[in-house]
Order: sequence, then structure tokens, then C-alpha cells
Amino acid sequence: MMPAPGPRTDVRHDAVIIGGGAAGTLVAIRLLAAGLRRIAIVEPDAMLARGAAYATDLPEHLLNVIASRMSALDEDPGHFVRFLAAEQPGADPATLGDSFAPRRDYGRYLRHTLAAQPGHETLVHVRDRAVDAGRDDASGDTLVQLASGNTLHAGHVVLAVGNASRTLPAYLRHEGARIADAWDYAAVRGIAPDAEVCIIGSGLSMVDAVLSLAANGHRGRIHVLSRHGLMPLPHARSGSQHGAGVDDLLPLGVPGRWRAIRQRVSEGVAAGEPWQWSFDRLRHHGEALWRSLDDDERRRFLRHAVRYWDIHRHRIAPQVAAVLEQLQAAGQLDVAAGRLLGIEPDAHGGSRVRLRPRHAGQEQALHADWIVNATGVETNIDLRPGELMQALRTRGRVLPGRHGIGIASSGVGQVLDAHGRPDPRLLVLGALRIGDLWESIAIPELRVQARQVAEHITARG
Ligand SMILES: Cc1cc2nc3c(=O)[nH]c(=O)nc-3n(C[C@H](O)[C@H](O)[C@H](O)COP(=O)(O)OP(=O)(O)OC[C@H]3O[C@@H](n4cnc5c(N)ncnc54)[C@H](O)[C@@H]3O)c2cc1C
Repeated sequence: MMPAPGPRTDVRHDAVIIGGGAAGTLVAIRLLAAGLRRIAIVEPDAMLARGAAYATDLPEHLLNVIASRMSALDEDPGHFVRFLAAEQPGADPATLGDSFAPRRDYGRYLRHTLAAQPGHETLVHVRDRAVDAGRDDASGDTLVQLASGNTLHAGHVVLAVGNASRTLPAYLRHEGARIADAWDYAAVRGIAPDAEVCIIGSGLSMVDAVLSLAANGHRGRIHVLSRHGLMPLPHARSGSQHGAGVDDLLPLGVPGRWRAIRQRVSEGVAAGEPWQWSFDRLRHHGEALWRSLDDDERRRFLRHAVRYWDIHRHRIAPQVAAVLEQLQAAGQLDVAAGRLLGIEPDAHGGSRVRLRPRHAGQEQALHADWIVNATGVETNIDLRPGELMQALRTRGRVLPGRHGIGIASSGVGQVLDAHGRPDPRLLVLGALRIGDLWESIAIPELRVQARQVAEHITARG
């Protein structure tokens, strides 16, 4: 890959990919494989394919999908397992395929796959941040403005900016509070082992934070606080993802679907299957399940059912679940369901975390030396950090997605402008498509989106 001390502004790129996490890297892999050569990828990180998920160095941070389902190439399901097997001579490929590999190895795998593409040395990694992307009316090209002040000319732009973590609103915390973001792996690992820690949020980012603390020999109490107090559930042994379709579910509203899914689970369990397999079989139908709900039912799902859906659908490796269980059983980790009312200074130089428990009226408080913000992904583009989304909004180049989540898109990811018109030269993939597709975050979806976006660009020449 070409080092880019400062991008040349006189070069027109066929494609500029904004964001070099997993999604941007997958698009670059596909564009190179299709023979495109003038490609730039804008990513501030020194390494591609890290992003929030794969930037961790901790071997305990595992993928939450088994290796046989994590190939970068949907037409070659064994690709990632072969990469792992090549590094572990003698290991049984079937066992590797069923295993949850360390996430750091996955980032390495994507970089390895990128480096194996013909012409990979022509890909320009611009270590910068995109802050704006206006259209040049004469050519129809986009001028991607970078934080450094440089500009890139782009025939096509791909928005692969991925996940942004939600911030804790300023009114909820005091200025002196020691707060680490769960995705700031080094900051979480820097927390002293005796500190009393309160993790806000109980999803996958909380799990990461607990694993980091445990790996550091943490001895202090760990409190977990979230509105529902629901933790991700573990995977079972792997089974077939194919089975009954969803035709019978599509005409139903949210409560009817839950009843029908429960029925499927009961029948599966009676036949000796783990409950997880019933959810796995819904996996390929996420988009159809989402799109078939009308607006009211989607709102109902987002308000009442999404947490329950998430813990069943986005599960964790059994060995990870075992760590959480051990810490809970030992009394070191407790989970509270309630609303965060505020984080105030306390008399011991730490924080007093005030909460209203979900099932009791009385306000409660707990002490914490450190707070870990694990409140998850910000889906509202108007609240995302960074200038890019706001600039695109101001220019009328993007619209918030349905129900205010992500941005509006159609087809293979053509971004809709403020008038709802698809732009064939501004593409999006990944988390920003959530309002459109719902299932649009994990590799099994990203690799298909990346292929389709690349096919669209190369077909246009
Ligand atoms: C902690 C965690 C664990 C996960 N584990 C799994 C898993 O096991 N299996 C699975 O399938 N999925 C997993 N996921 C889902 C995950 O979202 C995807 O696998 C994938 O990492 C998403 O990649 P992305 O490139 O879309 O987003 P990101 O990883 O968020 O990458 C986006 C990149 O864009 C860059 N960027 C953002 N804005 C700009 C800008 N203005 N200019 C330039 N660059 C910019 C960022 O620096 C970042 O590198 C996990 C997610 C998280 C957060």
C-alpha cells in the first residue's frame, strides 16, 4: 500500500472510501479485486481494518460470531478458517471453524486479505479525517475535504464511517468524574485493580470492559447499570442457520411475532435443539422482518422489544459468558436495572452514581472511583461526533434514516439526498444503513454490502 504523507490534490480518484474500519477495508478489497486502481481510503488510524471492533489487543476480546461465519468473502465461506489454520498447523479446521477467534486476529486477517489483492500497492491510505464532501457541479465529482485542509477529488465516495459511541450527556456527570469510554481499550485497562467501577450500559461493550478489567486482575467491585439490566446471552453449540422461513411472521405485528418465535423456540427445545438455533434461523431474514413492519410497529419494536431482541440475537461466546457468571457468583459483579439520574462528586474523591431502579420507586446511589461509558452505538446522525455528517446534512446530501436512525439509503447503498433522490456516486454501508435494513452491522452483512457497492462502482466505470 502506498504511504501517503500528504495526498496529491491534482489526482482524481475513481473511489474515495471514507473510513478504513472493517467495512471500508472490505470495499477496498473488492474494488482492487475488480481491477480498479485509483482508490484512496481516508482513515486517521495508522492501521486499516481496526475500527472500534478490531482495535483491541486483548486476546480475551473474542469475536461474537464463530470463525466459519466470518469470512470476508461471501462466496468463499472457508476463507477466514483457512487463514487461522495456516497459522496453527495441526489444528483441526472443523474445531477452528466452530471457535470464537480473538478480534485482533480478525483485523489482521482483513489486512492480510487486502495485501493479497492484485494492485494493493496502489491503494492510497490517507491518514486524515474527512470533514466535508461537496459536489463539484461541473464534473459531478465530489471534493472530499480533509481536516488537514487537503482535498481529494472523487468519482465515487463510499461512506464507511461505521459505529460512533454514544456520549454520556454533560448534564448527567460532574466535571471531575473519571470516565473511560468502553471502546478506549487502553483507558479501561488503565483502571487500578482496586477501583470500584460503575459500567453504564449492559450490552456487548460492557462485556468487553469487564473482560479488560478481569484480564488486569481486577479486585474492586464492578457495578453494571442499564435501563433493563439485561446482559447478552451466550451462544450454544453451532447448528444449521437454515430452516423454516419467515413468511408466517411477516403479516404479524411485534407481539404476534414474539409469540410465534417463542412457539418456534419451544418446539425446537422439545426436539432437543438449543433455543439459540431458532434465533439463528431468523438471521438471514432481518431485512424482510424489519421492512415488513409498518411505522407504528417499528416504533413499538424500538421502544419495547429492541433490548430483548438484542440480547437474544447478539450473543457472546460461552467462555465469555462464563467469566461474567463467575464474577457475579463471587459477588464482585452486580447488575442493576434502572435509570441513571446523575453522576455527582462524592466525599471520597470519586463519584456518587444516582439511579432510579426499574422496579422500585426509591432513588438509590452507589459509589464509583471510575465510570465506564458502555452505552453503545449512537444511531442519530445529528448526535454523532465529528463534522462530516453535519456538513453533509447542511449540503442536503444526506437525510436521517427511518425513525431517525442512520441515514436514508436505497438499492445497494445509494445515499438519498434531502429531496429523497438516490445519488449513484455517494454510497454508504454498515451501521448507517440500520434504518433501512436493520441488520447492517456485523461482517456477514458488511461483506455482502461491500461486494455490492464495489460492483456498482466498477459497473459505472
Ligand atoms: C466492540 C465490538 C465488537 C464487535 N464484534 C463483532 C464480531 O465479533 N463479529 C461481527 O461480525 N461484528 C462485530 N461487531 C460489529 C462491527 O460493527 C463490525 O464487525 C465492523 O467492525 C464494523 O466496521 P465498520 O468499518 O462499519 O465500522 P468501524 O469499525 O466503526 O470503522 C469505521 C472507521 O471509520 C473511521 N472514520 C469515521 N469517521 C471518519 C471520518 N470522518 N473520516 C475518516 N475516517 C473516519 C473510523 O476511524 C473507523 O476506523 C463488533 C462491533 C463492536 C463495536
